Order: sequence, then C-alpha cells, then structure tokens
Amino acid sequence: MNILIIGSGGRECAFAWKLSQSEQCTNLFIAPGNAGTANYGKNVNINPNDFEAVKGLALKEKIELLVVGPEEPLVLGIHDFFVNDEELKHIPVIGPKKEGAILEGSKDFSKQFMERHHIPTAKSKSFTNENLAEGLEYLSTHATPIVLKADGLAAGKGVLILDSIAEAQEELKLMLGGKFGNAGSTVVIEEFLTGIELSVFILTDGKNYVILPEAKDYKRIGQGDTGLNTGGMGSVSPVPFANEEFLNKIEERIIKPTVNGLASEGIDYTGFIFFGLIKVGEEPYVIEYNARMGDPETESVIPRIENDLVELFLASANKELGNYEIKISPKNAATVVIVAGGYPGDYEKGKAISGLDNVRDSYVFHAGTASEGGVVKTNGGRVLAVSSVKDTQFEALQCATADAARIYFDGKYFREDIGFDLM
Ligand code: ATP
Repeated sequence: MNILIIGSGGRECAFAWKLSQSEQCTNLFIAPGNAGTANYGKNVNINPNDFEAVKGLALKEKIELLVVGPEEPLVLGIHDFFVNDEELKHIPVIGPKKEGAILEGSKDFSKQFMERHHIPTAKSKSFTNENLAEGLEYLSTHATPIVLKADGLAAGKGVLILDSIAEAQEELKLMLGGKFGNAGSTVVIEEFLTGIELSVFILTDGKNYVILPEAKDYKRIGQGDTGLNTGGMGSVSPVPFANEEFLNKIEERIIKPTVNGLASEGIDYTGFIFFGLIKVGEEPYVIEYNARMGDPETESVIPRIENDLVELFLASANKELGNYEIKISPKNAATVVIVAGGYPGDYEKGKAISGLDNVRDSYVFHAGTASEGGVVKTNGGRVLAVSSVKDTQFEALQCATADAARIYFDGKYFREDIGFDLM
C-alpha cells in the first residue's frame, strides 16, 4: 500500500518511523517531510495547504492512504477536498473533515459543544465586536486570573491569562480589534482552572474509538517550567498521576460523550481527537480539543503502541475500530526536544548537526531539519526529538537526556528536567 503523510515535524517523523515498519507499507511519501522522514520514505516538497499539489502527488504515486499530521490542512478541509474529488474519493483519510476539525478550529464551537453534551470544562462566555460593551461589563465582575482565548487558530499564541480586570479589558479590545486577525474576531472569556495538565488521545472511526497512551508535555523553555511558552520541550508517557480511576472518569465523562456527541450531531469523524485536560482535585476538565495528535506527545506515544499502525489506521478508516484491540507497552517513554539557540524568540537556521550516530539507546525523530548536500542542518526552532522507552520513567528520562547530550549543533539547547516533577 502506498501511503502519504502530510506535515514536517517530529510528529510526522514518528508516524513515518512506525508506518514504515508495517509489512503493508509498500511506498511511503512525506510532504514536505524533513531530513529524518527521508530515512523512512520519500520526501516531496509541496505545501500541505496546496490541495491541488497534494492531489497531483496522490495521483502520481497512486496513494492509498492519506495521514494528515497538522491541524491547518484539516481545518482548511483537506479531507473534504478528497471526498469531493472523483479521482481521490476512494482514498481513506486519517484526520477529520472540516465539520469535525472545527472542534479545534473554533474554541467558541468547542465550548458550546461541551455545554450541549455536559462535558466538564471551565465556565465561559463568548463575545464579538458587536457586544464588546457587554464583554467589558462581564469582565468587570469576573474573578481573576482571567483566561481570554481567540476563537480561531493562532499558532498556540491566542490564549492570554491575565491577573487584572483592567488588563483583561484592554486585551479584549485589542483582540476584537484584530490583534490575532480573523482568529480573534470572537473571543472566549473563560474561568481559570488550577490543576495539573495532561493529554489524552483517541483514534475514532466516528462511532468506536481506541484510547492511545496518555502523555504530559512540557511547554516552557526553561528548566523547572519557567520562561516563555514553546511548541513543546518534551513529553512523558504514561502520566503517573493518571491512575485507572482517573482515566475511567476521563473515558466516561469526556471521551464517550464527545464521540457520541459528534455522532448525534451528524459529524462523521475519522481520526485523532486530542483532549487537552486539567486535573482539578481528582476531577478531569477539558481545556481544549485538538483534531490531530500533539507534538512532542506523539514522540512518546507512538513508541508505546505495539500494533501495526497501518492496520490501526485502516481499521479507523473502514469503521472497524469496534473490534480492534489496541496493545500498549507498559514501559515508560520520555522525549527531550533539542531546540535552536534563541527559540522561541529569534533563532538561526542552517547549523550543521553532528553526533546523530552517537545516539545509543533512543529514537531520534527529526523536526526542524533539512538535508543539504548530505549534511543534516537545522531548519526550525524545534530541531530534534529524542525519545527513549525504558522500564521506569527515571531510566527513560536519563537515557533520552544522555542521548540528547550526544548530539551537537551550534547554539543547541534542551531541558534536562523533563518529567522530573512527576517522580
Ligand atoms: P495549544 O498550543 O496547546 O494548541 P491553544 O492556543 O490551542 O494552545 P489552549 O490549549 O486552550 O490554547 O490554552 C493554552 C494553555 O493555556 C493551556 O495549555 C493551559 O496551560 C492554559 N489554559 C487554557 N485555558 C485555561 C483555563 N481555563 N484555566 C487554566 N489554564 C488554562
């Protein structure tokens, strides 16, 4: 079977690594991919949001399964494009259609969806420019801190947590005034929840689902979870504080009502749902939905899945997940992300990476890398994800950290404390 993965990050590299191990995978293509995905298939340099270019590639290479990594092509409707095209409609797509991707594409929609289906989440109210005055009034009696969220996709930057009402009122005006472009034309004002975050993932065929290993990611740039937010500096799976009882609550109160809610609203969803959760006391609440896997969570999650990933994806596409038995390794995975100096602020690209062959006992999933004349160079802020799977979380972290230290490029930086807070 010929398979095409859309995307170019560590998540897509982990998919490529795992899909290429399947006997059912004849040819693997990654568009656009990175220097690491080229180890498992053929990179094709096209823009994932250029659906005509994706079509050209799918026809030329006789693609039989499309796996969409990032959210943008999903929210823009790549699945719909395939379904509505005579020449492409036979190709199964892993990733929801627009009507399902809206769970991630509109926070206002997702909050209303959770309300309709009684799914626990922070209390909230949405405002647009038309009722700005009402929004300012609403804020004036709101408890602090206050969470303001741009409704649409804002590359992880559209959420503000503010300690004063005056500041929140000022930001509400700026957001509705265009600070995040169209993404902020509706703003969700949300109650602040105090707790510890984790991510839970399912793959669903619209009716049935399998629960994938849960994970915790580390967003801040600095040791001890300090400093600026990033796309993610590391992850661990499993999450020690998510015991069976807590995971059962998540399934009963959050996963089931979400999948059933989508079905009852006539939304035919094939693909991943990423539940961004927070544990408040002993209770789970939804912070956000994503319509795809997380990065760098995927790099800890995928190595713990023992099934053939092509089989799993086909079961989802063929709506056969009801009989599917997911096998998860009981081992512990830890991922350490190596970033370019200066990230998440300004950083340079094009630094030669050495030491990749020195890695002893970890998987190295490439993120922002490119190959230039046979030399692997940095090509983004998050450069490599080093993942290790071991019997204990301590060993996994120690191993991933030690292997991250064996890789070198000018300005490289990684956190050495990923997951240590959980031990
Ligand atoms: P991401 O980059 O994770 O996709 P996003 O822009 O989609 O981010 P959210 O995940 O909704 O936005 O929020 C970003 C972060 O802000 C969360 O991971 C969490 O730490 C914090 N946050 C969001 N909502 C709340 C809340 N109600 N209470 C406390 N913290 C919150």
